[in-house]
Amino acid sequence: MGFTTDLQGTSGPGETNGRVVVIGAGLAGSEAAWQAAQAGTWVELWEMRPQVMTPAHQTGDCAELVCSNSLHSNRLESASGLLKEELRRLDSVILAAADAHAVPAGQALAVERRVFAQDVTARLQAHPRIRMVRRERQALWPLDAVTVVATGPLTSPALAKDIAAFVGTDFLYFYDAAAPIVTAESIDYSRAFWGSRYQRGQADYLNCPLSEEEYRVFWQALVEAEQAPLEAADAEMHYFEGCLPVEVMARRGPETLAYGPLKPVGLRDPRTGKRPYAVVQLRREDREGRLFNLVGFQTRLKWGEQERVFRMIPALANAEFVRFGVMHRNTFLNAPQVLLPTYQSRREPRLFFAGQMTGVEGYIESCASGLIAGRNAARLAQGLEPLAFPRETMLGAMARFITEADPGNFQPMNATLALLPPLEPAVRDKRRRHQLLAERALQALERFIRGL
Ligand SMILES: Cc1cc2nc3c(=O)[nH]c(=O)nc-3n(C[C@H](O)[C@H](O)[C@H](O)COP(=O)(O)OP(=O)(O)OC[C@H]3O[C@@H](n4cnc5c(N)ncnc54)[C@H](O)[C@@H]3O)c2cc1C
Repeated sequence: MGFTTDLQGTSGPGETNGRVVVIGAGLAGSEAAWQAAQAGTWVELWEMRPQVMTPAHQTGDCAELVCSNSLHSNRLESASGLLKEELRRLDSVILAAADAHAVPAGQALAVERRVFAQDVTARLQAHPRIRMVRRERQALWPLDAVTVVATGPLTSPALAKDIAAFVGTDFLYFYDAAAPIVTAESIDYSRAFWGSRYQRGQADYLNCPLSEEEYRVFWQALVEAEQAPLEAADAEMHYFEGCLPVEVMARRGPETLAYGPLKPVGLRDPRTGKRPYAVVQLRREDREGRLFNLVGFQTRLKWGEQERVFRMIPALANAEFVRFGVMHRNTFLNAPQVLLPTYQSRREPRLFFAGQMTGVEGYIESCASGLIAGRNAARLAQGLEPLAFPRETMLGAMARFITEADPGNFQPMNATLALLPPLEPAVRDKRRRHQLLAERALQALERFIRGL
């Protein structure tokens, strides 16, 4: 049906199969629109560019990649590679265009960005059941159809205000100030101990002690480490005092951290019976305790620098980082409070959210959430029950993570194999484990597809 700029003829031939509105034609919205249309519904896809631009996008194309042209690993035994394979098996328009316009990038899938985005745009415009509306959607209401909101980390202010009013201002964030996350299996437990300050409550924190000498070396490295440059979109960001990057706090003086997030008060190392000089506390990131975040370590250091400096904490000498700390502009929901694993709003089942704003992080992760939201929006519009994907798949594991994470400490997350349920019995060899997790995921997906 193609490209239009007005709203005439919104009830189209697919009306009998239901109608779905998708707001935002980025990575998530493009996929959601495609999936809903392929499922037989009539889709109205809203995109405000090129009329209204975001601080990061350069064109009016759908699915524009705002920064890197890499969609990360294509290896099946990696989380990102597995996710891509799942998407391919589910007729993803983003993956089809990416594979068609890949450029040599070793084991990663990287694309010729302009041609890739133009191809996605052309495929959407050529779809007989998709109609594009090139306008900013300024309000959520009235909700006259099942709707998928996929307006991304740079959602326009008017709509963001409306979303905040709907979900509650406590559940919509505008900046991502996240601390790094490490896998539980990579922590050296012989150099850490469980406990909470003054033994109050349960021993929920894993404490990583530092001697005075270790602390001094760590502090020096931290203040000298290189920060990532500010993106244009982030230039307006001002730090809140309660949320300063750890390296900025460290630069205030050699003891600031020891009296701040690394203060050892109320903690005794059971191996020495003494209070350590400083303590880095780790807190569970997921219910099962497979991932831990470094409490108070929101940071803007370059990722390589984070790995180098944070591994100076003795218990983290071999830490595997599944997510690095970031601080940038990012509009996202407190998904554990707001969403179901079907990507539906808990309060209004006809409203779906998809993409980075649901707390998934990255191009492919955003596309994946768009795929689930689009398929489920179509199901709902056709009078069918929306479905949660199996948790053994990367698609399902991500949806479960964002909706089951600790809401008090929720931060966006990339796909990682650590989100998948562990194998039983456990497999020690990492390579073999990753292979088996990928095989199990694809089998679960095939069963799920057959059951549809
Ligand atoms: C500066 C920056 C750099 C990034 N770099 C990377 C990277 O290198 N690798 C990576 O994996 N991820 C990166 N990300 C994260 C990236 O945004 C997401 O991975 C991905 O683009 C999110 O997909 P999305 O569909 O949720 O949002 P987007 O792709 O941003 O799509 C949202 C769309 O909604 C439109 N829109 C917004 N408001 C409205 C409205 N009211 N009405 C109509 N349309 C609207 C926007 O114009 C946009 O087209 C970066 C993000 C930013 C901000």
